[in-house]
Amino acid sequence: MSQDKHAPAAAAVSNFIRQIIEADLAAGKHAGVTWAGKPGPAAAHAGAPLDTAKIRTRFPPEPNGYLHIGHAKSICLNFGLARDYGGACHLRFDDTNPEKEEQEYVDSIIEAVRWLGFDWGDDLYYASDYFDFMYAAAEYLIESGHAYVDSQSAEEMRASRGTLTEPGRDSPWRGRSAAENLDLFRRMAAGEFADGAHVLRAKIDMASANINLRDPAIYRIRHAEHHRSGGKWRVYPMYTYAHPIEDALERISHSLCTLEFEDQRPFYDWLLERLAEGGLLARPLPQQIEFARLNLTYAVLSKRKLIQLVQEGHVDGWDDPRLPTLAGARRRGYTPEGFRLFAERIGVAKADSWIDYGVLEECMRDDLNARAERRVAVLDPLKLIIDNYPQGQSEECLAPNHPQLPKLGRRALPFSRELWIEREDFEEVPPKGYFRLFPGNAVRLRYGYVVKCTGCEKDAAGKVVAVHCEYLPDSKSGTPGADAHKVKGNIHWLSANHADACETRLYDRLFAAESPGAGGRDFLQDLNPRSKRVVRAFLEPALKNARPEERFQFERHGYFVADRVDSKPGAPVFNRAVTLKDSWAAGDPAQRG
Ligand code: ATP
Ligand code: MG
Repeated sequence: MSQDKHAPAAAAVSNFIRQIIEADLAAGKHAGVTWAGKPGPAAAHAGAPLDTAKIRTRFPPEPNGYLHIGHAKSICLNFGLARDYGGACHLRFDDTNPEKEEQEYVDSIIEAVRWLGFDWGDDLYYASDYFDFMYAAAEYLIESGHAYVDSQSAEEMRASRGTLTEPGRDSPWRGRSAAENLDLFRRMAAGEFADGAHVLRAKIDMASANINLRDPAIYRIRHAEHHRSGGKWRVYPMYTYAHPIEDALERISHSLCTLEFEDQRPFYDWLLERLAEGGLLARPLPQQIEFARLNLTYAVLSKRKLIQLVQEGHVDGWDDPRLPTLAGARRRGYTPEGFRLFAERIGVAKADSWIDYGVLEECMRDDLNARAERRVAVLDPLKLIIDNYPQGQSEECLAPNHPQLPKLGRRALPFSRELWIEREDFEEVPPKGYFRLFPGNAVRLRYGYVVKCTGCEKDAAGKVVAVHCEYLPDSKSGTPGADAHKVKGNIHWLSANHADACETRLYDRLFAAESPGAGGRDFLQDLNPRSKRVVRAFLEPALKNARPEERFQFERHGYFVADRVDSKPGAPVFNRAVTLKDSWAAGDPAQRG
């Protein structure tokens, strides 16, 4: 145990958010916050047990799309802080917009957060469950002179809002009495008016230097069914009004959001102060803290663009392994551990920056390299015939399952007269520095024998269809004297009679440009035409019964996962998660794919 009970887990690197939290904990800011285990107005917490010295964070997705890699940063941050400081992190669906939200998205979000390895216990909430409170709070704001019903058109409201350099103008309806406002707001809620006929606005300051404080709209009329509250409401709260209230009702201590909300913070604080003043919310109030969102090269992380890619069929659905959705990343073979490592490595900062896609791939490699068992697969097969090996004979060669983890044991690779090797491991006329098979050269068949190439067969078009060689019977790996045979090349192989051909998908980055759509170009023009290649690869027998989502390193080829949708034990289908080396690093474009 650490001496300082507020100290984070050993591996955690400090950052400005941790510093704020540690200072708040040291000052006892949230000590004594009562928490009934159920959000509600201040009164509901009376008599509840004390929840001292703890922080509460939340991850608040809007269920209007699938989560992506950017969300993973926010999830790891919020849940990670709660874990490190002995607090709690809520999963809250910010479902205040009735038109775009669906149960399908709710389910996929729950699945993705769980998959990343986080647990919210009982703290799962829906913003729509607070609609009654939000409505009552709006009536309170009206009664206390802090809100009014505006009957200008959307156009008029825009025109009177002013600009960054000019103040706005007061609405002609700004002086309505509290009684008139209350009457109109209730009639809005009763469904008496059409969408857009009136809006409820906070009454703050039309001349404020911060445009967000120029009487922002807080409730609007929407004759729409909500995925949870059904037809109950004809008025819905605006996000900027709803979000601070959600945080306060849940007694969130640190409300972390991305930088674009920085200008909203004064309204966040204004609103919560008014409601606390009125006794509707308890102090201490939550503190909004902004951090830089994740921007990833070679990817798009905008929900709008992701929806377009899916709906226009540029990819095969939300879980296409090339998409930066978490559902796609999972199918691709990326790991929760790799994502958590990524979140740690990139850290959190206050200034926007771009992270190279290669950093994410390196995290996946580092995680998979440490754990994934090794297997052999031949992706681009060419026949190798060992002319001095007896017809019909076979034997076993032992291969380690993991070079650094002997406890994972070894498995048998069948060896026989006819093998599959990779086409690129033979050259009739070797280029300079080529150490693999060419006539007259000897190589080691990894875990097996040394063979010496004697020639090749070609078809009428001149294409090599088989390579011939002779093996050295006393050179078998693991037998005494085998190492006396010194060769420079070492290639993988599979016995042709024992290997099955299976669908294997070689995925690569979805975009070929570092910043898709930069300079006003249509981002679709930057799609990588080679982002998916399907081959029939030969797999070693031990792969035949792979379970869906089992991950392996295919030696020399990268990390692969048995597809969680299409792969079945007995009929495996593999996806390549990531190659062994970064082929996108400068100067090596020819190696891609
Ligand atoms: P929208 O444009 O629809 O609001 P969004 O990506 O912000 O999309 P939300 O569901 O509102 O989606 O996001 C949930 C949480 O994830 C928010 O707290 C948001 O700040 C955070 N988040 C979203 N994108 C990123 C990103 N690229 N990096 C870090 N955090 C992100
Ligand atoms: Mg958002």
